[in-house]
Amino acid sequence: MAERLLLRARRGGRGTRSVSLRGRRLQRVPRGLASLPGLRALSLRDNELRCLPVELGGLSRLTELNLGNNIFEEVPEQLKYLSSLEKLHLFGNKITTISPTIFDGLEKLIFLNLNNNKLKYLPPEIHRLENLENMNLNNNELESIPKELCSLQKLSELHLSHNCLITIPEEIGYMTNLRMLCLSRNQIGVLPDGLCKLRKLRILDVAGNKIQIFPIAMEDLMLMELYCEDNPLLQKQPVSAIQEEEVWSLKEIAARLIFSQLTKEDSILHTAVKQNLEACNILSKKQECAQCGQGFLNIWLECVRFVNVRQKMKISRNVHLLPVRTLLCSYKCFNHPGHGFFGIAVP
Ligand SMILES: [Zn+2]
Repeated sequence: MAERLLLRARRGGRGTRSVSLRGRRLQRVPRGLASLPGLRALSLRDNELRCLPVELGGLSRLTELNLGNNIFEEVPEQLKYLSSLEKLHLFGNKITTISPTIFDGLEKLIFLNLNNNKLKYLPPEIHRLENLENMNLNNNELESIPKELCSLQKLSELHLSHNCLITIPEEIGYMTNLRMLCLSRNQIGVLPDGLCKLRKLRILDVAGNKIQIFPIAMEDLMLMELYCEDNPLLQKQPVSAIQEEEVWSLKEIAARLIFSQLTKEDSILHTAVKQNLEACNILSKKQECAQCGQGFLNIWLECVRFVNVRQKMKISRNVHLLPVRTLLCSYKCFNHPGHGFFGIAVP
């Protein structure tokens, strides 16, 4: 049946642009496909393929290739010769590894679908897919993602739901064109602060993780949809607590003094600090108190504020208030009346 279909395609001449051999139980790719050099789209989905013939690498004009629902155990090496490829479907295979050299020839790739495979890790060379706009990695076994992935500046949609991710790299903030980020059903405990730099992000799905609190600058995001159900989010249930005596280290006291001096324009410390690289480094770790605005270094009170975002965006139905991480410089600020910051009770 497959061979007959192919013949029909051939009768269309060497200019045949599209061939579908979907659902034919093929165990090997029929010969002759490689003699259609003008082929633009090829579907081999829903078959029993585990490898591709070398000749297939000759389809230099192919822009779309569908190898979904086969039994590939790795991303076929020949793909790197398909230098015109823009859309690649590899969903529903048994892929455990991707050879780093594959990315050498896939510079034009815009869309990559690797959903429903068995990938445990991604090679750092993935950053070579610099035209990629849409990446689908749902339902794999990824435990981490390489920070190099975050240099894909054109990426607009990233789907990583149903994996085993524990953390997300801080560098995620570099993906400035990201509009949709799906991280649901992983094991993520803390979202990186870098996430809040994604000013084009409109849809964030972090449902079904281990998130208790959102990053400090969460409100900088201009989200339209936020899915965060099934997380152990901090609840607004005030309990009384004992305030332990604050003990600041000499380094902390000095840093706070310098931060406050540096707010004065005429302070001689401006020049002194600039000339001391080590001091600059340490002082660059400055954080600011949400109550008084003063800078501090290593000692703070970990607090939470509850933000009602329901007016601004579509949010998971059973989430009413978003717990957002907030830092205060001291008990003096914490005990200041009128603010809406809460300490975090440790069970
Ligand atoms: Zn303060």
